[in-house]
Amino acid sequence: CGIVGYVGGRRATPILLEGLHRLEYRGYDSAGIAVPHRNRLKVTKAAVRVGELRELVGEGLPATSGIAHTRWATHGEPTDANAHPQQDASKRIAVVHNGILENADELRARLTADGVSFASDTDTEAIAHLVAKALDDGAESLEAAVRTALHDVDGAYGIVVIDATKPGELVVARNGSPIVLGVGDGEMFVASDVAALVRYTQSVVYLDDGELATLTADDYRTSTLQARSTAKSPTTVDVDD
Ligand code: GLU
Repeated sequence: CGIVGYVGGRRATPILLEGLHRLEYRGYDSAGIAVPHRNRLKVTKAAVRVGELRELVGEGLPATSGIAHTRWATHGEPTDANAHPQQDASKRIAVVHNGILENADELRARLTADGVSFASDTDTEAIAHLVAKALDDGAESLEAAVRTALHDVDGAYGIVVIDATKPGELVVARNGSPIVLGVGDGEMFVASDVAALVRYTQSVVYLDDGELATLTADDYRTSTLQARSTAKSPTTVDVDD
């Protein structure tokens, strides 16, 4: 339902929670956040309101990147386990996802046959396992791994992926579910709705369907899922905070 991501120089947790708060009007049943810390991801997620998530997180860790989500369940009940971010078995990868995967059952069956055990009933979790598998199989970057994973995925998605071992990078993709990048000064934002980021920047880049982006504090790079570069300049949104 709602997606927020940040990579930059400030503490990510308050920015992510504020972003989720701005998206609450869209409705949701669960909320969660993941921030990298010492090569691991600290994930806090539950079938609660954003206000309660804020209490669970407390002051949070001093991480300067992270991803967050408000969920509107389509696959699996609104439970803590089904809340996003979803992770792979090694917990290296975390994914937030808006939308519905059409081949979720097939992906789950195939991954299960490969020995992967699932921790949730969501369609989303398969994406985390596929990205981790692509990295295990030697993908040269997180972006390459996400590209490989999405090759196997049918359906609608807006996703943001983070790798515990590369805390300064977010990989984002869109197919049928809106994603907007926010370009700051030494910081980048991503959200499913511009309302989550206008407080921080008015300089935005809308992703098109079939497009992927890699964000670092100082740069963003967009391309098609087939790895053809799609250079895009930011536009200015004129929205009151
Ligand atoms: N299909 C995903 C799930 O049920 C994402 C739902 C959403 O868009 O919030 O977990």
